[in-house]
Amino acid sequence: MASSKVKIHPAVDNGVKPAITGFNGGELACHCQSNKVKVQLTAQTSHNHVCGCSKCWKPEGALFSQVAVISRDNVKVTANENKLAVVDSAAAINRYACKECGVHMYGRIHNEAHPFFGLDFVHTELSDKGGWAPAQFAAFVSSIIETGTNPADMAAIRERLLELGLEPYDCLSADLMDAIAAHVAKQS
Ligand SMILES: [Zn+2]
Ligand SMILES: [Zn+2]
Repeated sequence: MASSKVKIHPAVDNGVKPAITGFNGGELACHCQSNKVKVQLTAQTSHNHVCGCSKCWKPEGALFSQVAVISRDNVKVTANENKLAVVDSAAAINRYACKECGVHMYGRIHNEAHPFFGLDFVHTELSDKGGWAPAQFAAFVSSIIETGTNPADMAAIRERLLELGLEPYDCLSADLMDAIAAHVAKQS
């Protein structure tokens, strides 16, 4: 497979678009035709990245999800909250998905001891506004093999990620791994 043929995610396949300075949020909507679940974000997101894990929501046909973080204080469900349900309540991140269309509207950590407690996980592609913080790296790249990617295609996929400026990691980025380790060190 040639790297030019690789489809990572619709938000990055045609090049990663820059953030708009002073951008301060917008509305996310699920994929239902009517009675959409809506979530208002009242700040710019950070640490946006594409993720290859099997838990994050991916749009149809994408190899990776695109996911960013935002303080939970800046996340509010504004319409049709009754359609939301947690996908897996045993997971560290509780992902609140629309029961009808399956789109994950936000992920929340309820364990106060978790390094990322206080941050919600969101998919800014669910907003029709431009200007969100762009994806900066690719996390859990090797995990796409678990969901069916042929290992032989991985070289082309990593090459494409590098072309897009998305450094491939098989865990989280060095910055975030350091943050987790620092949190663990402080607790022990
Ligand atoms: Zn929906
Ligand atoms: Zn993920």
